[in-house]
Amino acid sequence: MKTIIKKIDKTQKDTDIIAEAGRILKEGGLVAFPTETVYGLGADALNEDAAKKIYAAKGRPSDNPLIVHIANMEALDKITTSIPAAAKVVADAYWPGPLTMIFDKSEAVPLGTTGGLDTVAVRMPSHEIAREVIEAGGGYIAAPSANTSGRPSPTTAQHVEEDMNGKIDMIVDGGMVDIGVESTILDMTVTPPMILRPGAITREMLEELIGEVSVDKTLINPDSKKAPKAPGMKYRHYAPKAELTIVEGAIQEVVEEINRLTKEKMEAGCKVGIIGTEETIGQYVAGDVKSIGTRENEATIASHLYGILREFDNDGVDYIYSEAFATAGIGSAIMNRLLKAAGHHVIHMESDT
Ligand code: AMP
Ligand code: MG
Repeated sequence: MKTIIKKIDKTQKDTDIIAEAGRILKEGGLVAFPTETVYGLGADALNEDAAKKIYAAKGRPSDNPLIVHIANMEALDKITTSIPAAAKVVADAYWPGPLTMIFDKSEAVPLGTTGGLDTVAVRMPSHEIAREVIEAGGGYIAAPSANTSGRPSPTTAQHVEEDMNGKIDMIVDGGMVDIGVESTILDMTVTPPMILRPGAITREMLEELIGEVSVDKTLINPDSKKAPKAPGMKYRHYAPKAELTIVEGAIQEVVEEINRLTKEKMEAGCKVGIIGTEETIGQYVAGDVKSIGTRENEATIASHLYGILREFDNDGVDYIYSEAFATAGIGSAIMNRLLKAAGHHVIHMESDT
């Protein structure tokens, strides 16, 4: 299959490109497009055969359900059986935006879209191009991250091309995404509502609105024997090809330990990548050193995380050492993804001060 790739300007949108994307989606094809979180791989969510193509293109396990993307609040009625009052409050505050909510699904949503579940995950993105593609494609677009299953999610159209060229009908290139980590997932079918995946909308932000919100225990305790409530969270996701280790502790000790480990591996003939920050990159003495952003603004770290992991894949490093990051705000999403990428391999530096 030849993949059509079209660049689109956020401020001067080309309506022909949106119309072409819409036509392909309505005919049951696959179109990747930017959202504010990561690039999505879109298909008509109400067409089982179209949704199936997503699983084939991504190599995604068929029990891992898709998120249905809508462009307006009216669209929610058709795909759900009831909308709890708290969900309306949350939607008022954070839709459109980087938040997914789970509801009981109606007959309109095929089980092929929900991985066999009676519930449906729904998000209304804020990205202008995403919204127009959704509308043009019929209003209900299943759109998981547009990467091959197991690879880091795509934050640029080039990342999508690396994984999907020749496998999908079209890529709408709207430049680099804004946030860089996937949406928060909030299950509204349980009391109190439960976070199944951390994202840019935090527990604190939600609790301020609707009171108590719980967090899936498997997110807090990675050794939990229980399966995560979001089926997709059980897979070793977001993983770079190299072995990734996170070094945590007082920053000076972290830098010294990463320098020591890097020297050791390089002497053994291995290629080493280092994930540092604007504050520390000058202090690393060897290895392929990359800055992920600044600790002064954690949003910069979120937006570069997946891109950096892909760069190390392309550089062909054998080992990656990363600093750990604060877990407040967007930090909980950053550390959740980084820990998964590292297979929870963490070295903790004990400070003697
Ligand atoms: P992605 O589309 O790649 O961002 O992944 C979607 C995530 O949402 C996966 O972790 C899914 O398991 C999760 N998800 C989608 N639908 C549901 C649902 N009905 N119940 C629980 N988790 C869901
Ligand atoms: Mg994904």
